[in-house]
Amino acid sequence: MKSMIVLLGPPGAGKGTQGEKLQTELGYVRLSTGDMLREAVRNGTELGKLAKTYMDSGALVPNDVIIGLMKDKIQSLGKVPGIIFDGFPRTVEQAEALDKELDVDLALNFDVADEALIERLTQRRSCPNPDCQAVYHLVYNPPKCEGKCDKCGSELYQRDDDKAETVKNRLKTYHEKTQPLVDYYTKAGKICTIPGIGDIDEIFAKVKKAIQ
Ligand code: AMP
Repeated sequence: MKSMIVLLGPPGAGKGTQGEKLQTELGYVRLSTGDMLREAVRNGTELGKLAKTYMDSGALVPNDVIIGLMKDKIQSLGKVPGIIFDGFPRTVEQAEALDKELDVDLALNFDVADEALIERLTQRRSCPNPDCQAVYHLVYNPPKCEGKCDKCGSELYQRDDDKAETVKNRLKTYHEKTQPLVDYYTKAGKICTIPGIGDIDEIFAKVKKAIQ
């Protein structure tokens, strides 16, 4: 069973959804740099203030900041059955830094075309409760009661970076900075590409097969 897993793919490809399912199924720790940064923004920390300007424009937070954040997090974990990296690494420099910390077993690459991603992200609504963080789609996975989280009842919101203009920038950033990681992990013989379109459970079945 693979235990150090990187989730690759453009924003909105389903990394968070599949990562959460894996976390529940396997008891692995899921580390999402996006969630960590949003928490820092909510708490108004120095990191949060710095990160917000990049996040709101669809750019990446500088490598040294992210690498430092992740290193601290990994070192604070102690012994765990496995780690799912969601949204990290996003640049070759970050991938090289991760390789110095541990051996990645598998990079799961979720493949979705840009047009579908734009539709998914702009229709996405998120739960602001840090202990919940459920995600909905207004058309394909709407909450049972409009505007309210099914799981915890919080008022749903649209992430600032899910607004149309920022989404376009995030995709541009992805193609420039993150897509080269597909090559990086292919060369390392660690990549498994899974189509990220279709039924969530069917995609998850493929994910589970890949980690065997
Ligand atoms: P996510 O929720 O993973 O889509 O991340 C939201 C935003 O946080 C991204 O658009 C970036 O601005 C920032 N971010 C998250 N992870 C990273 C990373 N590994 N490197 C740089 N910036 C990141």
